[in-house]
Amino acid sequence: MSAFFLRSVILSTLLGLGVSSSAEEFRCENGLVTIRNSPGALHPAICTASDRALSLLQSCDLKPPEPVEIQLSELSDKTCIGLFHCGEALIEVLPPEALDARRSAVGAFNGLPTPRLFESVIVHEIAHAAMEDVPCPYDSCVASSEYFAYSIQLLDLTEAERNLVVPPLDNGTEPTRVTHDQVNALILYMAPDLFITKVWRHVTAKNDVCTQLKRVQDGTLVFDTFHP
Ligand SMILES: [Zn+2]
Repeated sequence: MSAFFLRSVILSTLLGLGVSSSAEEFRCENGLVTIRNSPGALHPAICTASDRALSLLQSCDLKPPEPVEIQLSELSDKTCIGLFHCGEALIEVLPPEALDARRSAVGAFNGLPTPRLFESVIVHEIAHAAMEDVPCPYDSCVASSEYFAYSIQLLDLTEAERNLVVPPLDNGTEPTRVTHDQVNALILYMAPDLFITKVWRHVTAKNDVCTQLKRVQDGTLVFDTFHP
């Protein structure tokens, strides 16, 4: 009995030490984000990034996501730096120092300094969360969801930062028109950086980013196709 009690005490002490920080919850004032498993020093960055994602959605009259939990995680998929789990209201992001160690997977956004990149990934994943309930006529609407997420992520950057991600046009050069069919899942997987540039050129082409994004979020503009 006493041995069991002692073991329990030791166990709970160990658990207490092991999980106390990871079990801690912090709620951002915006009511959207609950942070778990993250050092307090990162709470302001996570909350302000989610504030900005929310105001971007709001400024275009787009639907905000349902409340979501953000956890820092050492995402096992080495090609991944952030992940939104559909149906679980959960976003996992790499902590900043791990982001730096995985710079090879960052791609087009690699020019951003780590703190900005960290926030930018959060903005991207919150945009994914805002696409969760969008009807998809196919098995997967990954290209449409990434179109929306990258657009919001790029809108969140300053122009100078965006120029590091999407090659700027020479003065006076008209952007080449990006057709609807040129934004697709194949390019997303085969040439992700090119996909991002095409998304930006496409979403800004009519000088009406909000209408484009609204059509994506209401499911009338879809960049995916049927794959047998
Ligand atoms: Zn994404």
